[in-house]
Formats: sequence, C-alpha cells, structure tokens
Amino acid sequence: MKITFLGTGTSQGIPVIGSSHPVCLSKDPKDKRLRVSVLLSWGDYTYVIDCGPDFRQQMLTNGVTKLHGILFTHEHSDHTAGIDDIRPFFFRQGDIPIYAHKRVVESLKKRFDYIFADADRYPGAPAVEINQIENNEPFTIGGRQVVPINAKHNRLQVFGFRINDFTYLTDVKTIDDSEIEKIKGTKVLVVNALREEPHHSHFNLSEALAFIERVKPQKAYLTHLSHLLGFHREVEKKLPKDVHLAYDNLQITL
Ligand SMILES: [Zn+2]
Repeated sequence: MKITFLGTGTSQGIPVIGSSHPVCLSKDPKDKRLRVSVLLSWGDYTYVIDCGPDFRQQMLTNGVTKLHGILFTHEHSDHTAGIDDIRPFFFRQGDIPIYAHKRVVESLKKRFDYIFADADRYPGAPAVEINQIENNEPFTIGGRQVVPINAKHNRLQVFGFRINDFTYLTDVKTIDDSEIEKIKGTKVLVVNALREEPHHSHFNLSEALAFIERVKPQKAYLTHLSHLLGFHREVEKKLPKDVHLAYDNLQITL
C-alpha cells in the first residue's frame, strides 16, 4: 500500500490567509500545508480519507485519474468541503462510493443536497453511493479490510481507520482503551498534533506523543498541524526517534 499525504494542515491551512506569522511566511515547502487528507493506493485501487476544500488541488498535484471511494472521519468542513470536486471522477466512473457514519451522511445531505437529490437533478451534479460505517463493524474496500476506530473530537464522535498495518487518526482529543487495543500492532500510525498549547478538541504535541507511546508503532507521523506548532525543520529536531512531522506530498509504502 502506498500512502500519500495530500494535506497535513489544520482547518485554516498554512499559510493562514493574511497572516504575518513567521511560519506562514516561511519559504520552506514543508511549511506549506493544505487541509488534511491522505491518498491510499494499492493495485488498481485509489481511495482518499476525507476531501476538504483543497481536494481539487490535491488531485491535480498528485495526478490522480481514478477514485474508488472516500472515507470520511467526520463532517467538519476542513474534511468535507471539497466533495463537489468529485465531478470529474463521477463523469468518468459513475457514482463515487463514500464511507461514513450515519450522522456524517445526514450532514452532507443537508449541505450538499443537490448531490443526494433523487428528482430534478441538475445535469452537472455528481452522485455518490452511500456506505454507512457502523461503530464496531469492519468493512471492505478494494479487497482490504478497514477497521473503524472510534474517538472523540471534544464531544463529537470521529472515525479513524486501520488498514492492515496502517492506522490513520485525525481530530482526536480522547480515545477509549478498547479502541487503542484495536490499533496495537500497527506498524505506521498517523495521528493529529495541533500545537504545543492545549486545545479543547485536538491532541496537542505532548498528548499525541503520549498516545504514540501507548500504541508503540514502528513509525509515527503527526498531521493536522497548526502554524503555531512552529517551523517544520525545528519541530522535527525535537521529536523522539521514529516520530516525524508529516508534510504535504510525503509518500510512504508499506
Ligand atoms: Zn479538522
């Protein structure tokens, strides 16, 4: 499986519009972060986890020609706002499968009603095939099992996903021990770390590192990063061995 980090920034992305923060002004390409998403590919299959407002640019940058489905972690806009841009995939392939919690599907229906309309459809509107994710039920995509991991983003339930030896979690603030058990043995763990200061709905750096210490993967990557965390190059130096900041367009294979 090949994993491409399409975006590694928090909800506003980096640089933040109009910001004169030194990290937002950085010339280092690793300090430029689109909204958080990953591309997963194996064989002929290509999936994304989340499709935020930068989805179109992410597909173009990575030359993605086919999309077999979108797995949603939760409904917040930085994870969903790009769904209209599945249109080119829809025109070539037909309905695009989405995998999401029932609540997320309901939210998408409200915000993108034309995508889900049964009658009087606008001719250019895309359509999706809905696959509801149940809390404790693994499901299959492209011949591989996906284990949904339940976590909390403040009070909001969010899904993480484990596929074989890879686990992806974002927008997590708390997670039950029973869910951590499902992640154990994973070789590569991706988890959110917003900044050093605590935050009501995201792990900060020390919480993310403590979580990684519990899971003990071979390698961990931090994502959903704020400019307030600091310059990529400087934060990297402070991290434990085998823990790295992810950056946009980083590819790993496992
Ligand atoms: Zn987010």
